[in-house]
Amino acid sequence: MTDTFEYPQPRLFIAGAWRMGSGGDTLPVLNPATGETIAQLPVANQADLDEALAAVEMAFPIWKATSAYDRAKILKGAAALLRERARYIGAVTTSEQGKPIAESSAEAFACADIFEWFGEEARRAYGRIVPSKQPGVRHMVFKEAIGPVAAFSPWNFPTTIPARKLAAALAAGCPVIIKPAEEAPGSCLELARALDDAGLPKGVLNVVFGQPAEISSYLIASPVIRKISFTGSTVVGKHLARLAADGMKPTTMELGGHAPVIVFEDADIDKAARMAAAAKFRNAGQICIAPTRFYVHDAVHDAFASAFAGHAAALKIGPGLEAGTGMGPLANARRLAAMEQFIGDAVGHGAGVAAGGEGPVGAGNFWRPTLLTDVPDSARIMNEEPFGPVAVTQRFSDFDEVVRQANRLPYGLAAYAYTRSARTSADIADALEAGMIGINFSVLTGPETPFGGVKESGHGSEGGIEGLEGYLVTKYVAQG
Ligand code: NAD
Repeated sequence: MTDTFEYPQPRLFIAGAWRMGSGGDTLPVLNPATGETIAQLPVANQADLDEALAAVEMAFPIWKATSAYDRAKILKGAAALLRERARYIGAVTTSEQGKPIAESSAEAFACADIFEWFGEEARRAYGRIVPSKQPGVRHMVFKEAIGPVAAFSPWNFPTTIPARKLAAALAAGCPVIIKPAEEAPGSCLELARALDDAGLPKGVLNVVFGQPAEISSYLIASPVIRKISFTGSTVVGKHLARLAADGMKPTTMELGGHAPVIVFEDADIDKAARMAAAAKFRNAGQICIAPTRFYVHDAVHDAFASAFAGHAAALKIGPGLEAGTGMGPLANARRLAAMEQFIGDAVGHGAGVAAGGEGPVGAGNFWRPTLLTDVPDSARIMNEEPFGPVAVTQRFSDFDEVVRQANRLPYGLAAYAYTRSARTSADIADALEAGMIGINFSVLTGPETPFGGVKESGHGSEGGIEGLEGYLVTKYVAQG
């Protein structure tokens, strides 16, 4: 497949039509493994956005009135198409984002699971009857679709992040205008194609690209839009939340993280190092829940660091479409520059380099899997999300001290711990300030489980029953 693969020409998808922007402007899409331009992406101007807004406004009453059973049929039809096309969609994602094809194809399958699960869950958007104290009066509570959604998704998981937003919103009965990341546009367009081919009515889904700040401010200010969903950095999330506040519009915000990992003295060190390295270097570390700050008990620090560094050094880096690649390039040149700065700064503050620490020579945004040891709190990387293939360690010896360190930052997305003790597992799960916690486990993403953060990592959840709730409003009807 990869021999014959051609990256598809991206389009806007507005009111059921696949088309170029009416202004004719385009942006280049680059392959991060080579730096080459692989496509020209059409961008939407205000007239295009107005058309998308008119489309969702018209589609809302129709889609809301479509039974949950029929909405589920379309979502499940799209899921079947995504499974058939997973390898192709994987190649699209890898070409524009860089990750190994095994990861990107698995993500296309994961999108199918997400569509299917939310399709099913829509049929369980139950209300309730509340017993009345007056005879003959009924108190009824209904769950209804909130209305047209404006969604904004990033480049790191260009299929699964849009899939979560689309599946939950569409399942709930909400039409959507989504602006995926311009740097990796093809993946979300494949989701739209599957939904279109599965019979989604025209106008229920619209995909636009352009200048992110212009598109988000225009859509969020429109009275047509009733709900905002954003995944990206905390700084942009705060900005969009302020815009949404002007119209009192609810938001779901999946923002940055800086996940602590606590390795206790009694942990299975080999297992902890293997699992944590796999979680850290997946998608070249460009994951908001990637384990980053490793607090390792003094008695096992060196053994853990050596095992983790071994896994890092063994990882084969290369183009994502090449067989045997364990880690692809970073998605864009900004991340490469960030790695250089973070690591230079940490080494300047006295950190040791146990693995990696630099990029290989040559084209593409490649960086070696890196482990920095004994990094002080004063280093930038201990405070800012690295969003790349670098992990850092500090030693600890006391439970309360390590909890303070783990909770020190304004982030609260994911946190991890490794221990063989059930008591320590329960105590640390209680003590960590995070929306998601992995204990002797690092896979926190499933359609059926809640995904979201606390503190400045955002609010709202994108998986599980909470994911559907985000697109529903509660209506109470008293009938005498
Ligand atoms: P960025 O903050 O400029 O962009 C992140 C995403 O937000 C991109 O998809 C971008 O198109 C979008 N965006 C930016 N400004 C926007 C606006 N005004 N309205 C709507 N969308 C907007 O930074 P970047 O260089 O692309 O990524 C850097 C940082 O972003 C990373 O270090 C990481 O902290 C964060 N990030 C987080 C996630 C996540 O999954 N939570 C994903 C990607 C990036």
